[in-house]
Amino acid sequence: MRINEILKNKRTLSFETFPPKKGYDDLDKTKAVLAELKKLNPDFISVTYGAMGSNSKGNVDIASFLKNELNIEALAHLTGGPSSYEDVDNVCKQLKENNIDNILTLRGDKPIDYSAEYCKTFKHATDLMDYINSKYDFNLVGACYPEGHNESDSLYEDLKYMKLKEEKGATFFITQVFFDNEYYYRLVNEARKIGIKSPIIPGIMPLTSPKSISKTKILCGSTIPLNYRNMLEFYKDKPKSFKELGYNYAVYQIMDLLAKGAPGIHLYVMNNVETAKEVFKRLENVIDEYF
Ligand code: FAD
Repeated sequence: MRINEILKNKRTLSFETFPPKKGYDDLDKTKAVLAELKKLNPDFISVTYGAMGSNSKGNVDIASFLKNELNIEALAHLTGGPSSYEDVDNVCKQLKENNIDNILTLRGDKPIDYSAEYCKTFKHATDLMDYINSKYDFNLVGACYPEGHNESDSLYEDLKYMKLKEEKGATFFITQVFFDNEYYYRLVNEARKIGIKSPIIPGIMPLTSPKSISKTKILCGSTIPLNYRNMLEFYKDKPKSFKELGYNYAVYQIMDLLAKGAPGIHLYVMNNVETAKEVFKRLENVIDEYF
């Protein structure tokens, strides 16, 4: 099923996960994690795609497991940066064979040792969208950036390309992680002003260890508000309190987003079942009333 059809009827709850990292050693472990996440009744689960195109088989296998064995809608990420036409054809054919209808079209994180080979075929997510649309019929989804993409001169520059993604068929968007909801509200406001109509689903990541902060900052560059930063610093040597802060801050963000009409919540749980369960436990009544 196309996830945009679900969004027409309800607010969605979804998770972001990744395929096994160590080849197939971890496959059973990943499947067990997904089976646990299913118990929380998400509307869909997305599966990341390696920035270097590595592990594309793992991405398709996990998306297929979600769709065909767990009966959960899968959103398969696909990065054009490291891919050739042949790579994209292989993935699209396998996704079709496995009845997966939804692709999050991305360029991918530029590798540190970025070379001219990267983005040789698909310079931007929009080029990947063009190619997929020319040969296949998928529901395409786009990524967007509440603080503007770090390679863009300004948020407004980045928004132009978000609009282009919609024109090329993105039926909804999922945002980069953010910790200050005001950035999300500004993005939505500015996007509506230039005519972007599709739902924009906020992406929320509970920070559960001091290590996760530096990783998140390096990968996404998202601003952490001073008050939250101070609390993270204060609790950094107390792992249980630190987690409690991370769960509760995510819940606070979610409650505020719901109050302002967000069309769904995408939780970057990154295969951490405990995080998903702890956040859901705190939101149990809210989920009953708002999803
Ligand atoms: P693009 O849309 O190509 O944007 C990159 C830059 O180019 C931006 O500055 C944009 O403004 C500009 N731009 C866009 N289109 C054009 C155009 N047509 N002409 C000129 N400039 C343009 N990375 C992974 O490697 N694997 C994943 O699975 C993954 N999943 C993600 C999921 C979400 C929800 C998000 C928000 C990000 C994800 N990323 C993932 C990271 C993402 O790939 C990086 O942020 C990457 O730097 C940009 O990807 P993009 O698809 O937004 O690229």
